[in-house]
Amino acid sequence: ATPTAIMVGTGLGAGRGVLFKNATALEASARVDTVVLDKTGTLTTGTPEVTDVVVAPGADEAEVLALAAAVERESEHPLARAVVRRAEDAGVRRLSATGFRSVAGHGATAVVDGRRVVVGNRRLMAAEGVAVGDLAADRARLADAGRTAVLLAVDGRAVAVIALADAARPTAAPAVAALHGLGVEVVMLTGDNEATARRIAAQLGIDTVVAEVLPGDKAEKVAELQRAGRRVAMVGDGVNDAPALATADVGIAIGAGTDVAIETADVVLMRSDPLDVPTALTVGRGTLRKMR
Ligand code: ADP
Ligand code: MG
Repeated sequence: ATPTAIMVGTGLGAGRGVLFKNATALEASARVDTVVLDKTGTLTTGTPEVTDVVVAPGADEAEVLALAAAVERESEHPLARAVVRRAEDAGVRRLSATGFRSVAGHGATAVVDGRRVVVGNRRLMAAEGVAVGDLAADRARLADAGRTAVLLAVDGRAVAVIALADAARPTAAPAVAALHGLGVEVVMLTGDNEATARRIAAQLGIDTVVAEVLPGDKAEKVAELQRAGRRVAMVGDGVNDAPALATADVGIAIGAGTDVAIETADVVLMRSDPLDVPTALTVGRGTLRKMR
């Protein structure tokens, strides 16, 4: 590797807000044949909003929101923040939670007003012995529509489905198209539900989806691709993504992401623009050509 080629590549990247931390990152970017993208906060803005609240017969929407918000106020999760915002906008009464417990990749539980409240995905409901009942159909319908559908249970009974949507970044679809143009396979990796992930992937032109991946298992999914002979770039923003960023041949962090992701990554996209992923690969390839 000639120092000049590295300097030129690094400079070219920097001019576009693509920071290569070292020469290895630049060289590895040139060889990538598979790009794995985290969904939430990477392909999407990461600021979900509540779109629908479907309550079970006999349940009251204001009450349901008050209970959900009491639990979610204790959580740092972007979905939790959206639920709290919705409750505040609706002006529901403010309740406090005790015994809060966060279940990574699933949701959270707490006691509110003497009632045991569970908020999260289907797997969490199953683990907590909650019967979802008729709300299962609403959950499925909303997930098929591309929403992240979260269930709320009170004292072992599901009382509501809260649907959330997180807008795709405007350049997410063009970025996927550009990556395909570079001959690279594109994979979406997410903790979200399979149906939701598939719908969003279809909108963005992504054909391979790995969904319902627990936060601790993202790195293992990257390692699996590597064992199959792939040279993988992982693109992510979250604390959850850091181990996968470290495992990948090239870890690419979204500049607006968490400090852990930025510190772990080999490349940082300062503009948080998905289109800078193909840019990074192109700059890498150009550098490698000059080195030969
Ligand atoms: P992602 O990979 O999309 O960032 P996570 O792995 O953090 O998602 O969470 C996976 C799923 O677990 C979410 O789609 C949601 O259904 C559920 N979940 C996680 N945390 C919460 C929470 N605080 N409130 C409600 N649901 C949650
Ligand atoms: Mg994310």
